Amino acid sequence: MSFADLLRPEIAGLEPYTPILPLDVLAARLGIPIERLVKLDANENPYGPSPRTTQALADLASIDGPAGRLSIAIYPDPAQTRLRAALSGYVGQPAASILCGAGADELIDLVLRLFLSPGDAVIDCPPTFGMYSFDTGVNAGRLITVPRRADFSLDIPAIEAAAASSRAKLLFLTSPNNPTGNLTPPAEIARLLRLPLLVVVDEAYMEFAEPGGATSVIPWVPRHANLAVLRTFSKWAGLAGMRVGYGIFPDWMIAQLWKIKQPYNLSLGAETAAIASLSDIDYLRANVARIVAERDRLLARLGALPFLLPHPSESNFILCRVTQGDAHALKLALERAGVLVRYYNTPLLRDYIRISVGTPAQTDAVIAALQQASVGT
Ligand SMILES: *Cc1c(COP(=O)(O)O)cnc(C)c1O
Repeated sequence: MSFADLLRPEIAGLEPYTPILPLDVLAARLGIPIERLVKLDANENPYGPSPRTTQALADLASIDGPAGRLSIAIYPDPAQTRLRAALSGYVGQPAASILCGAGADELIDLVLRLFLSPGDAVIDCPPTFGMYSFDTGVNAGRLITVPRRADFSLDIPAIEAAAASSRAKLLFLTSPNNPTGNLTPPAEIARLLRLPLLVVVDEAYMEFAEPGGATSVIPWVPRHANLAVLRTFSKWAGLAGMRVGYGIFPDWMIAQLWKIKQPYNLSLGAETAAIASLSDIDYLRANVARIVAERDRLLARLGALPFLLPHPSESNFILCRVTQGDAHALKLALERAGVLVRYYNTPLLRDYIRISVGTPAQTDAVIAALQQASVGT
């Protein structure tokens, strides 16, 4: 026998996830020093975390810190009490409705594990974040794909028809959507909440939309038994490397999530970093405002290039259709110049690149590299 026959069949048939290369590996491959790379491929925060976070992490590791160096040798709080209390103030919901994860990514997987038996259907609306389909596959679910319209808005009647015919248990919505940058209008979410399924609204980028007056659906959770909202510290708070996300869930659901959560899923470093971030909101919001201002400048500069069609964004990235030449070739030409952008090898996004909003200097670098690359290709 082959021991590989022992594998779960749906795992054996799964496409492997294409991981992002670590920066040092990429720098060595390109022959460009790390500090000269312009990293605009993963929507990270160019200003990093708050100085209070850096200090809190240093204190954790220091023998002179609050609990001494030994605090790292002790398991973290499985109930996430201090962070959930701090988040309660931030999102305006009771701590009892909040559960934190090692990134929002962990919570996407946890929610799917809670509902899916093999073959159960999940509705996904691409182009969107890849983790919903990835984790549906890992959890042996059946992915029902309802593509967005040409303007990247949701096809509501098609979602309703798919829900009826597939008897899907879950629907993932992203607002603002990654990689298209547009918000999902609250009225559309309200309509979809009438479906007999759980609606998970991923607001990973909502902090970049809120200064413009966009509204989160977090306040709706107490009124809708089938609404869950996910958030993360990775983007607005500059903590992608620490892995902290959270969700606001209805009572019946959070009780079940607590049962299946790994007890120590949130590391001490992640909890410490997130609490310190919430104590320095004004600092972090000022950086969000700089990124939002830079987004508008980047959009204008990209729009002036004859071979790109950038889409307006409510987030910290801009999706661009490459209207002349090949998008993958353009991504590789930029990479050779040390500018990293995101390319998707998927049917719906073959002609697109996504550029994260960085500092003003990074905007100038990506525009110069784009002008150079268009001459070269
Ligand atoms: C980046 C991203 C996440 C992942 O957040 P983590 O907290 O880093 O796991 C979730 N949803 C969307 C739409 C994202 O783009």
